[in-house]
Amino acid sequence: MLPKGAAWAVIWAALLCASTVYAATGAELMQSLRSAGLDTAQCYRVRDVTLAKEDLKLYLTEGLLIFSKPVNGERVSAVFSAEVEGGDGEVLLLPPYAGERQSLAKFTKSPNLDEHFRAALLLATDGSLQELFERMSSGAEGRKVPELGPLVAEEFGMPLANVAAGFELRMVQDLMTPAASRQGLRLAALGGTRLGNFEVFYDARAREQIAAGQAAAHAGGSPYDVWTSFPARSFRTSGAAVAAASPFMAQRYRIDAALDASLRLSATVRVAAKVGANPLRVLRFEISRAIHVTAAKVDGAAAELVAREGERGSAVRAGDNEDFLVVAPAELAAGSAHEIAFEEDGAVISPAGNDVYFVGARANWYPRGGQEFAMYDLTFKYPRRLTLVTPGEVSEDRVEGEWHVTRRVTAAPIRMAGFNLGDYEKISGGFPGFRVEVYGNRRLENALQPRLPVAVDTQDPTPISGGGRGAGGGRGGRGGVPQAIAPLAQTLPAAPDPLARLRTVAADVSSAVQFYTGLFGPPAVGSLTVSPIPGVFGQGFPGLVYLSTLAYLDPNERPAGTRGPREQVFFSDLMQAHEVAHQWWGNLVVPAGYQDEWLSEALASYSALMYLEKKKGAKAMEDVLEDYRDALVKKDGEGATTESVGPITLGFRLEAGSEEAFRDITYYKGAWVFHMLRRRLGDERFLKMLAELRRRFDSSPVTTAQLRAVVKQFLPAGVTPAMVDNFFDTWVYSTGVPALKVNYTVKGVAPAVRISGTVEQSGVGDDFSIEAPVEIQFAKGAPQVVWVETTNSGAVFSATVRQAPVKVSIPAGTGVLAARK
Ligand SMILES: [Zn+2]
Repeated sequence: MLPKGAAWAVIWAALLCASTVYAATGAELMQSLRSAGLDTAQCYRVRDVTLAKEDLKLYLTEGLLIFSKPVNGERVSAVFSAEVEGGDGEVLLLPPYAGERQSLAKFTKSPNLDEHFRAALLLATDGSLQELFERMSSGAEGRKVPELGPLVAEEFGMPLANVAAGFELRMVQDLMTPAASRQGLRLAALGGTRLGNFEVFYDARAREQIAAGQAAAHAGGSPYDVWTSFPARSFRTSGAAVAAASPFMAQRYRIDAALDASLRLSATVRVAAKVGANPLRVLRFEISRAIHVTAAKVDGAAAELVAREGERGSAVRAGDNEDFLVVAPAELAAGSAHEIAFEEDGAVISPAGNDVYFVGARANWYPRGGQEFAMYDLTFKYPRRLTLVTPGEVSEDRVEGEWHVTRRVTAAPIRMAGFNLGDYEKISGGFPGFRVEVYGNRRLENALQPRLPVAVDTQDPTPISGGGRGAGGGRGGRGGVPQAIAPLAQTLPAAPDPLARLRTVAADVSSAVQFYTGLFGPPAVGSLTVSPIPGVFGQGFPGLVYLSTLAYLDPNERPAGTRGPREQVFFSDLMQAHEVAHQWWGNLVVPAGYQDEWLSEALASYSALMYLEKKKGAKAMEDVLEDYRDALVKKDGEGATTESVGPITLGFRLEAGSEEAFRDITYYKGAWVFHMLRRRLGDERFLKMLAELRRRFDSSPVTTAQLRAVVKQFLPAGVTPAMVDNFFDTWVYSTGVPALKVNYTVKGVAPAVRISGTVEQSGVGDDFSIEAPVEIQFAKGAPQVVWVETTNSGAVFSATVRQAPVKVSIPAGTGVLAARK
């Protein structure tokens, strides 16, 4: 049977699309997207038009609908305006999970999104607007009102172009992908009557296809508030709610990099890549904004680079990275192997003084895309006075005139390659089968040099207006450097030794690697290089750890403000243990998505605490856990705790309004989650569980649900899988820290002492219920633990013990995450 009417038009349009897309370059396509504009002749008076995609429903109840001019034969944008008599539009979105309803409610004051709107700016690369256009233009729906077109176009042409500008790279990518394998995007930017401007998305490429959010109005934190984000219904029900397969796999990187006298980077980056299950022509990469990619080749033939400044499409998760596209000269067949080569340059290294350097783009100094694990062959040419470190085994290290050339090759695929450089002192260590190299700066960076800026200001005969406090004394004031500096210099304390703890750090790193290897199995790679970075943070890359320069200083010589007991434990003990633990958690077992990012931070944090426990005893670990708890239950001006900002699985979304909440929840609550699991499973099962996690997810992504499944394999008697589900529902997928109080009575005499008591729970929602360990302590012998299931209406427990207890309680830093009462 022959298709007729509109159906013919659809097929024709599809054919046209397929043939013309390949004629255009990416730049031409981007240009036509920019210049398309609204098609004033294609304006319709519409009533009760529904645009639905899975859970997301848009109702164009009454208003005007105008389409943009076609790009490659396809209508990819449109505007709906409710500025007519009785005009109205409505969006409906019901998040399927409690955590998502809670998140939505936090931003919109309602757990469901049901909002009327006055205007909708629509983008679609999934063919849905083209389909709607076919319906409209065939006269099946709506009434054509071309006379109103110019008016609507004038009002909404610019706003639509602004929204589209944020997604043009994505649109080019989609439009250059054959319709059969295209994973399109739908977006509606809505002018809500109550919520103002916001967006709703359906993105077939995303692991969570549906999302809604708004540009952040608050200062600080993330620039975009994700109100809610979740897998679409069909993905939830099919259980396929995981990341779509990567369009291509990067398998091997060969990088030839040079750092000139000013340490500006230029490099040729060659990526051996394999195409996934679908043919493709466009490959998407990301790179630091500080790096400029100047040319690309595919298999030796020049390829088109398509990039744009400040892509707003990535504002959903803003970062220092920018995406760009490589358009291959011809389509690459499914499963075929290719070499993609890039030329790049940029300034990513900043001097901190005295040959101490800060490498800015540590994870993104070369184009990254596709699947993550790859082999690396890295060659750097740089000034001879310096030493450069990067992961892998040294295969060349020589001096050529004024230049130092170092080449390192990895023995196993790794997730990413960082590098670091400086005028270093080095200590080698390790144990059989594992090499540790710890580098420290020979000289001290400027920021750590002793100085007395405040005193200089007060003695400056011509004080700078506005105080100038802390400016170092050299800024402002007529005549340059104030004379007051000279006499004061005599009173400056001695400069700290930047290598004071080099040996200690090296010994600590070796013993931490050995400890973790014993617990979890071998790390990502067989060697580890540790090197300093100015600042107060560390970072653990495969085979390469960056450690704050403060970790190298004698605790007494650290700057004021970092000398409290907590900071000392952090800089002396926890930081290196945490970053070393990332060799396993984050670099070997990799979080599958932002929802699982907590896993690697929580496991690195808790591994560091176990190392601290081994080194300094259980009390040292419990003190830190109590500090973490205090941070989590700290209340803001309105009485809300930090922990209540959202479930740990919100990942970066916790940053909305507060970076502290992200850190405290991801790292601190995360450590508590594993500590509580350890308590419940017992040490032996807990450690076996972690070893199994590392074994099963070796060099592959892991989700929170997969962790939960592994936990269920290591349950002691009395713990059911349903209890594990409740543990995750309570501590991982939602919020709440209870206050718990134990009351008890003791009857009878040894050897049949009867203890009866209650656990009172408060400060949490009515459905909050956990298992709390009530510890019965005796004058001698190990304490006995009774697990009590709590509720807000109280829980009773009883136990018969052989001797009279000295104390019955839920211990603070050891048992369960609970507020002091
Ligand atoms: Zn970390």
